[in-house]
Amino acid sequence: MLKIRNLSHFYQEKQVFSISNWEIHKGENWLILGKSGSGKSTLLHILAGLLSPTQGQIFFQDTEFTQLKGEKLDLFRAQNIGFVFQKSHLVQTLSVLDNLLLVPFLAKEKSNKEKAENLLSKLNVLHKKKDLPKNLSQGEQQRISIARALMLSPKLILADEPTASLDDENAQEVIALFKQVSQELNATLLIATHDQRIKNQFSNIFQM
Ligand code: ADP
Ligand code: MG
Repeated sequence: MLKIRNLSHFYQEKQVFSISNWEIHKGENWLILGKSGSGKSTLLHILAGLLSPTQGQIFFQDTEFTQLKGEKLDLFRAQNIGFVFQKSHLVQTLSVLDNLLLVPFLAKEKSNKEKAENLLSKLNVLHKKKDLPKNLSQGEQQRISIARALMLSPKLILADEPTASLDDENAQEVIALFKQVSQELNATLLIATHDQRIKNQFSNIFQM
């Protein structure tokens, strides 16, 4: 479902990475593994269409994703890609539930409270739906950001260092959760990390 060809990125004159050929099939789970500064976040931002690569092509099913711009790109991203950032970036003045309902609103789709509550329930945070993000633990905030990324049933789920601030037990649990929800959505999952603790949970590893 994703084909990457001769993709590279430079900041000023400095090359961050270069990938000649990488194919990702529908439903696969991949770990993008590399030490700090190896370009994982840059790659994820490019795959999410939040950053334009210096060179190369990405094909997303039949769409040459790297050719999309402006509103078309925003729409394509909203319909296809769920991104869990390293920091949760929840809107602090909105309740947990309203943070989720903001997603279809911004994508000009119908509001879907039932879906939001289902996701919160699946991630064991439904009892927090009326709370403000600041009153949640870090682990709970992370579950909310996962739920938020899944609101529009993305075909591709991208997560940047989701286990960085978690202890061993929670790190394994969050990865299991990502795998479970992506399987239920029949989505493809890409997780970027420097965290060696979770590599046993993946059979596909892309080394940066
Ligand atoms: P990782 O996520 O693997 O730690 P990043 O993609 O964040 O790696 O960064 C890769 C390299 O690019 C690092 O050397 C970083 O300092 C540099 N870099 C990241 N963002 C920028 C930017 N906006 N401008 C210039 N250099 C950047
Ligand atoms: Mg990073």
